Formats: sequence, structure tokens, C-alpha cells
Amino acid sequence: MTIFQKIIAREIPADIVYEDDEVLAFRDIQPQAPVHVLIIPKKPVVNVALADDADQALLGRLMLVARDLAVQLGIADKGYRVVTNIGAHGGQSVYHLHLHLLGGRAMMWPPG
Ligand code: 5GP
Repeated sequence: MTIFQKIIAREIPADIVYEDDEVLAFRDIQPQAPVHVLIIPKKPVVNVALADDADQALLGRLMLVARDLAVQLGIADKGYRVVTNIGAHGGQSVYHLHLHLLGGRAMMWPPG
């Protein structure tokens, strides 16, 4: 079981900013920007590479929750970044699919 499944199950505390039947969003424990939220499906999908075609609507939901949280958290006007890391070279450290919503400062490109 990943740490994110424990957060979904409320076995580990988290600063939750959004929840519905399918999706949970909470603040990253090591924020890389003034706003850094993780948006996850409650279903234990490992990452985008291992998502099923049947997860199409769920993947879309995650993006739309990011859109709405960006407004709610006050970063939409200036812009923000949504990123998902996949596997070792992608920098994934928790193997439960998550979008990082980052904002409140100008982001760099290219990423490290
Ligand atoms: P990844 O490196 O897999 O793309 O992102 C995993 C993220 O989860 C990291 O940014 C890390 O700080 C965050 N994280 C890891 N463990 C916890 C935790 O227990 N609580 C919270 N809120 N975030 C966590």
C-alpha cells in the first residue's frame, strides 16, 4: 500500500483541499512552490503509463480538479503548472498517480 492510499484511508493526516467520490487533493508535505497540491484518484492507478483506456474520464477529472483548485487557491490569474512524474526517469517517488499543481511563483523551463 502506498502512502497516498493511507492518506485516502485517513490512516495518515494530510491537509486536504478537495475531495469527491473519485478524487482527493491535499497539500504536498515538501512544497516546491507557495501553492503545491497533489491531486490523486482514489482508485490506485500507478501512473499515466499504467492507466487503462477505461480510466479516460477519471484522468480528465483530475485535470479539471486542477483547473478549479487553481482558481480556488488564487493562482489561476498569473498561471501555474500541472505535472505528473512517471517512473524512475520521470522522478516518480510515490507509485500512486498524482498531478502536482504548482503556483504562486514563476516556474522555470526546462525542468531539472
Ligand atoms: P513524485 O516524486 O512521486 O512525483 O511526488 C510525490 C510527492 O509526494 C512529493 O512531492 C512528496 O513531497 C509528496 N509526499 C510524499 N509523502 C507525502 C506525505 O506523506 N504527505 C504529503 N502530503 N505529501 C507527501
